[in-house]
This record gives sequence, structure tokens and C-alpha cells, in this order.
Amino acid sequence: MTKRSHTFSRNMGVLAIILVTPPVAIILWYTDQHLHGSVSELFRFFRDHGFFGGLWKMWGPVFWGSSTAWSILGIFAATELVLMKILPGKKVQGPVTPKGYTPVYRNNGFAAFLVSLFLFWLLGYQMKLFRPAMIYDHFGEILGALNIFSLSFTLLLYVKGLCCPTTPDSGTTGSFLFDYYWGTDLYPHILGINVKHFANCRFGMMSWPLLILAFAAKQHEMYGTVSDSMIVSVFLQLVYVGIFFYYESGYFKTMDIQVDRAGYYLIWGVMVWVPSVYTLTAHWLVNHPIHIGPVLSVLFVGVGLFSFWSKTSMNRQRIRVREHDGNYNIWGHPARIIRARYTDDKGEERESILLVDGWWRIARHFHYVGEILGALCWSLPALAGGIIPYFYVFYLTLLLVHRARRDDKRCRLKYGKYWEEYTKQVPYKILPGVF
Ligand code: NDP
Repeated sequence: MTKRSHTFSRNMGVLAIILVTPPVAIILWYTDQHLHGSVSELFRFFRDHGFFGGLWKMWGPVFWGSSTAWSILGIFAATELVLMKILPGKKVQGPVTPKGYTPVYRNNGFAAFLVSLFLFWLLGYQMKLFRPAMIYDHFGEILGALNIFSLSFTLLLYVKGLCCPTTPDSGTTGSFLFDYYWGTDLYPHILGINVKHFANCRFGMMSWPLLILAFAAKQHEMYGTVSDSMIVSVFLQLVYVGIFFYYESGYFKTMDIQVDRAGYYLIWGVMVWVPSVYTLTAHWLVNHPIHIGPVLSVLFVGVGLFSFWSKTSMNRQRIRVREHDGNYNIWGHPARIIRARYTDDKGEERESILLVDGWWRIARHFHYVGEILGALCWSLPALAGGIIPYFYVFYLTLLLVHRARRDDKRCRLKYGKYWEEYTKQVPYKILPGVF
């Protein structure tokens, strides 16, 4: 393939993603909230109204959001910004970028998570300043507003990255479309706020627990009780997000932060896709108060917690072995490692550690199995509920398979022969014998 045709097909792929993902988020919400979460009803809806007519019937009324939706989002964003700034936390460093920049963060994510849940309970349930279930009632408008905001904000970040990037890790590929999608700045700051830290963690990830609690509140309002399926699903998701914030400083060392720039893929993804798709099971359960009984409840919670523990343990091993410069014990013996040398973008030679032990001996991204299994456990309370409550697990599996390939390519390029040596010892990407 010539360079020109490669650029063309890459840009067409990017255009397709930008055109398809917003309607998908809206269709999923509408199907869940107005078509009983039924895909066959969705097909009938499109058959009766035509695809574009039907899409506009769903999206038109919520396209620009509403004053209520913008107010909810404004209050939420302002609260999270204040918490990010005022809550105490140690300063932690992220990994050095290829251009030699070291990002610094305040590690107060878990405190922000707890305070956010507390405020939600205090203002919603104790002081009754708002009705938590109203978030479900206005969810379509919220998604409309989030979509408009994220698309515009990504454009602003694109321009900022070109004219006044925050760090040297920025630049253009020469294609507006690809730059808009991928971003022009790796670590943009606006008015002293680290945009990715705020958007990914304090906005996207923090919206998730609050939304599912609001969905549970809606079910309670409708049926006078919260079903055990909803309790199990929401509980597992709260634990998942709690763990994420507990190890937020570890997240600064993942691909989202150290590789992906602040473009549509990341910013729209965390500000629209996370609130709409990651919360889908709980959203679907609102109108389907399934009773799963104690045996299945214990099973789903047990396997779910085990999955979270295993993937967290795997992330921890990778981070700790580097923090201890390789002098670290894994499962009772000194960790086996490869000291990999690489040259950064400034031409400086650096050294890093590749772990070849513990979980990292099984497969190069074995933690993705824990990630998928955990998500399956909070989706399974929907039992045979069709596609919608399992949509996130399907999507996550595709995302992680693609991500494992992407990471492999990146590490091969970065570490060269050291990566070859590593892949000889750990040949599988995710699941031994399968992939
Ligand atoms: P990893 O945490 O696997 O980080 C990948 C990076 O780790 C590589 O780029 C490389 O970076 C380094 N690395 C690779 N192999 C080794 C090794 N053997 N020893 C030490 N370091 C190594 O990837 P992700 O960012 O994809 O995942 C982070 C977490 O987020 C996971 O728990 C994942 O499940 C979760 N996740 C969740 C998603 C969701 O939507 N729910 C989406 C994606 C991830 P370096 O350049 O530093 O060497």
C-alpha cells in the first residue's frame, strides 16, 4: 500500500468512527429508555420511520441538550474541578514522555470518589435538594449536551495543540481529520487544569458511579424497591470504579495517558461514550427489575471481585517492579525481568524494565481477561436480557483485542530486540493458546 492510499484509508476509518459513534450512543439510550431495551422494537422503529427519520426522531429533541441537562453537567463539572484542586493528596509523577516531559499530578482521586458519593447521598437523599432519579429522566438531554460539548471542546484542543501546546509532545500529521480524531497535544493544560486528568478521571470515570446510582434510584421510584440484579450490578461497578480511583496514580502510567493524545478518540470517548455505554447494564435494568436470587448474586459478586483482584494484582506487579528497579519479589521469588534499552525522541538512551514473571509470564495482557470477566459479572444479572445489557462486554472485548495489538506494535517499535526476546518468552497477547 502506498503512503497516500494508507493515509486515505486511515482518514476514512477515522471519519467513519466520528460519524458512527455519536448516533450509536443515542440509539442505545433511546432503545433502552423508550423501546423497552428491545432490539426488535428498534428495527420496527426504523422500519416505520426510516433510518434517518427515525434517528432524528430520537436525537432531534435532545440534540442541543436542555437547560436542566446543562445545569446538571455544569454543577457536576464545577464540583469535580473544585475537589480536584482542594482535596489533599501527594504529588506524583507520570512517566517521562518521549520528548522528556514529566507530568505531575495530585493523587487525590480516591478522596474525590468518596466525597462525590457522599455529596450525592447528602444532597439527593438527606437534604433532598434534587431527585437522583431525575438524572435518568433527563439522560437523553444529558447525552445530547455532552456530545455537543465534547465535539466543540475537542476542536478547541485541536487548535490549542497547534498554536500553543502545553508540552513539546505535540504536533500535527498534516491531516485535519486525523489530528481532530487523535489530538495534537499529549498533555494539554487549560487555566492550570490538566485536561486529560480532569476529562478521563474526574469527569468520565466519576460520572459512571453517580449515573448508575441515579438509575438504581429510578428503579426504586418506579417499583418501590431495588431488585437484587440491580444491587449486584451496581455494587460490582462501584467497586470497580473505587479501585480505579484508589490506584489512580497507576492509571497515569497506562496507554490512555502516556500514549493517547487529547483528541476525539480520548476526549469524546471519556465524556460521552463512558457515560452512555459503560452504564448500559444498569440503565437497562431500570425497566427490568429481574430477581436473580441469592445463589447467582453470590456467584456474580464472588467471580467479579476475584476478577478485579487479579487484574489489579497484575497492574500492581508491573508498576511495583519498576518502582523497585527490578529488585522486587513476585510470588515468593525475585522477579525475572528484562532490562530493555531504548532511545527516546530526543536521541537520549534510556532503560526500562519488562517483567517476565508472575501474571506477566502467562500472557502479555492477561489483565484484560480480568477486565472482561469483571464486566461480564456485572452484566450477567440481566440474565437472557438480549444484546443491550451485554453491549459493553462485547465492545470491551473488541477494544482490548485491538488495544493489545496496538500496544504490541508500539512496544516492538520502542524496545526492538528486547521486545522480541520478551515475546519469545511470553508468546501470547491475551489468552494462552488462543490469542
Ligand atoms: P497496560 O497497563 O498493560 O500498559 C501497557 C504498557 O505497559 C506498555 O505500553 C508498556 O509501556 C508497559 N509494559 C508492557 N509490557 C510490560 C512488561 N512485561 N513489564 C512492564 N511493563 C510492560 O495497558 P493498558 O493501558 O491497556 O491497561 C491499563 C488498565 O486499564 C488495565 O487494567 C486494563 O484492563 C484497563 N483498561 C480498561 C479499559 C476500559 O475501557 N474498561 C480500556 C483499556 C484498559 P512502557 O512504554 O512504559 O514500557
